[in-house]
Amino acid sequence: MTSGHHTPPQAALATWPTPLEPAPRLARALGLGEGDLWIKRDDLIGLGGGGNKVRKLEWLCGAALDDGATVLVTTGAPQSNHARLTAAAGARLGLEVVLVLAGSPGCSSSGNLALDGLFGARVVWAGEGDAGTLATTAEQVAQRLRQEGAVPALIPFGGSSPLGARGYVDCARELLAQAPELTTVVTALGSGGTMAGLVAGLGPDRVLGVHCGAVPTPAATVSALASALTDTPCPPDALRIRLDQVGAGYGTLTEPVMSALTLAARTEGLVLDPIYTGRALAGLAAAVQDADITPGRRAVLLHSGGLPGLFGHPQALTRAEEGLTSG
Ligand SMILES: *Cc1c(COP(=O)(O)O)cnc(C)c1O
Repeated sequence: MTSGHHTPPQAALATWPTPLEPAPRLARALGLGEGDLWIKRDDLIGLGGGGNKVRKLEWLCGAALDDGATVLVTTGAPQSNHARLTAAAGARLGLEVVLVLAGSPGCSSSGNLALDGLFGARVVWAGEGDAGTLATTAEQVAQRLRQEGAVPALIPFGGSSPLGARGYVDCARELLAQAPELTTVVTALGSGGTMAGLVAGLGPDRVLGVHCGAVPTPAATVSALASALTDTPCPPDALRIRLDQVGAGYGTLTEPVMSALTLAARTEGLVLDPIYTGRALAGLAAAVQDADITPGRRAVLLHSGGLPGLFGHPQALTRAEEGLTSG
């Protein structure tokens, strides 16, 4: 850690470690040996439907509490898992939550957005715009809250600041205890903090990120975050990142992802999501085809959560229902 600043303790939001489970039937279907593929079950994190954002929120909410915050403010897409888990963390910690979401009322329903409502979060619709527009609106919301006498804490997009990414340095430590011989951890790459923390903990050679189209420059984003977490800079070209699973863009469903969802479900009873973990498995399958991941070594797929997002994706649900065969 390069930071010499005071680091507040983490907020306790879950029970650790998460399980590491074998996936022998999925491994065989991908062309690996039965013992070559394991799943790190961060989807089983207990808070709010689970997922990778909880590890980051433990650090970010710890800092917010230390600053005397009374309300958490964060940003995201309408089906943001991060927004949903920030809402759950706020409920758990007794903090109010304001979510600044891209789009307008009625642009999405169900899935994560329904859970945001259940957790009692307030939503501010920011219209169309990129992460920069969302951040500007969040800053204005924070200003208004301050004028009303509240103490807002701004939680970064996807929880991906150097502080939030420490949650995945913690995960890397868990993985090394559970599977010291692991050769590759495959993770979806969204806002970048998850991959960055794993790279800081495991080194760039043992982490394969599958870009999901959430940020314009994934390698530079992960490089900056990982470099902030260690004493050794991590240049973008040292990172293993697959760019081939984005398809027509972040929210869209691709055929390789639909195949990956079906394969995981039918070999292991494992549910992935169309935006993140489906892309991670599709990227893993492509890496086996490319012999970047090979039999006889131990690969780990990070299941980073996202199940509510499946129920907020009408196209993926329709395709899933088409898989029903009549008996
Ligand atoms: C946010 C998210 C990711 C990506 O993590 P980042 O740290 O944003 O790169 C992966 N999977 C799921 C389910 C997510 O919600």
